[in-house]
Amino acid sequence: MNAFEREPDEVLAELAALREGDAPTHGGRVLSYVYDSGLAELDELAARAARLVQPVNGLDPTTFTSVAAMEAGVVGFARRVFHGGPAGAGVDEAGTEVVGSVTSGGTESCLLAVKTARDAWRAARPGDERMPRLVAPTTVHAAFHKAAHYFGLALDLVPVSAETGAPSVADVVERLDDDVALVVMSAPSYPFATLDPVGEVAAETADLGIALHVDACIGGFALAFQEGLPDWDFRVPGVTSLSADLHKYGYAPKGVSVLLQRGRDRQRRQYFATTAWPGYPVVNPTMAGSKPAGPLAAAWAIVQVLGESGFAELTARATAATATLREAIDGIEGLAVVGDPVGPLLAVRTDESVLAERRVDPHHWADAARGAGWHLQLQPGTVQADGTVLPHTTHLTITPVTDHVVGELVPALAAAADTVRGVPAVDGRALVAGLAGQLPGGADALAAASAGIDSDGAALLLGAFGLLGGDGAGGALPDRMAPVLALVEALPGPLTERLLVELLARVVEPR
Ligand SMILES: *Cc1c(COP(=O)(O)O)cnc(C)c1O
Repeated sequence: MNAFEREPDEVLAELAALREGDAPTHGGRVLSYVYDSGLAELDELAARAARLVQPVNGLDPTTFTSVAAMEAGVVGFARRVFHGGPAGAGVDEAGTEVVGSVTSGGTESCLLAVKTARDAWRAARPGDERMPRLVAPTTVHAAFHKAAHYFGLALDLVPVSAETGAPSVADVVERLDDDVALVVMSAPSYPFATLDPVGEVAAETADLGIALHVDACIGGFALAFQEGLPDWDFRVPGVTSLSADLHKYGYAPKGVSVLLQRGRDRQRRQYFATTAWPGYPVVNPTMAGSKPAGPLAAAWAIVQVLGESGFAELTARATAATATLREAIDGIEGLAVVGDPVGPLLAVRTDESVLAERRVDPHHWADAARGAGWHLQLQPGTVQADGTVLPHTTHLTITPVTDHVVGELVPALAAAADTVRGVPAVDGRALVAGLAGQLPGGADALAAASAGIDSDGAALLLGAFGLLGGDGAGGALPDRMAPVLALVEALPGPLTERLLVELLARVVEPR
């Protein structure tokens, strides 16, 4: 006699059936979201490590001492590979120790870097009522938009070159003033894999006493094992914090990243502590209270097993596949790789130097590739603060396993381009005008919606756009994503954001 209503095996079978609907997490067919080392033993190791600590509460490393040991191990590894001393070049002055925390992911690392910088900025200016500013290139990860929103900073985005994806050093330096709490540089950026000019900008911020965060969330644990790059980590004296995700090129399951900070006193501002309630004293280095130890344990075990040589070997596989793909894509008439990507990722745009009928739209290309079982990620075009436009692109994140399938992927990408060459990009404005015409209130209804709509209104619009099932529930993604991205580009940002919130919220509503 037990308390169960259903057989565990039956429930697990149901879950396995649900998993059949997921995009494949292994095998290299999904070129974003998932980071497959290609080593099944590593996944097995991660699962066993996570299982060992499953009942542990990561909230309190003094009660669960394994958490302290694993965190110290992971932070120590990160500090070593990112040259944070203690014997790192020129960084062993008093007060400049690099210390760190394990967080739940890149977003949390970025949020905490911003909170730390904001609190340090405020502490240095008692009585200053101004809103602090966060300066970063347009290509900075959206996590910093979120951080500015959550923590009350003004986000000051520096336009980047549409050709290279990089900001000019002068444009960044021009923005620096005493209201800047933090400058963020990416190593590399997610949209275009650009290595921002960390060293040049850091020389200026260091002079002015402004904090500089290097967002190495995606590429950090790969770049650290690549030769021939300019310094971008703690070797640069002006770098005050750095984030790198172990659930990306650390090959750990989701839920683990590191945030390193230069100087114990700086890092202590990351913490939240209170004794002002009748319960246990709260001391949290990260946003969560109770938290799992599983992702940390998995990352710790992977780091122990791979070591620096294992990471170097896996990085070599991913970069070899990236080089092959870059050459292949540059060889496809009508497509071009954006800028000079650094690390195992790249973005692809239309090659405008060829005749219109020979051009390939990267979104049609991605849809065609998806039809053949390869999932590439569509990125919308963006208008920057100065009015310049960054083209819409298709993103590829390349992992060690890609190396095993690159022989299939290259011809598939060429064939996909052949099927859509000459097909113009979806005209988002025309699409919007057509849809507005079908709405009960026409274009006026759309304009009114842009000023604010409730969830029923949003669902109605999504339905008109064919993005919601008739029952008001989110269905599967449409077969073609190009029209969806064209809508994202053409509709006013706040309306698109509201519609996407509605779509995602309805996807998880109980039926
Ligand atoms: C992935 C990523 C983040 C955010 O990380 P999550 O783990 O998705 O929360 C931040 N910055 C960059 C450059 C990234 O690629």
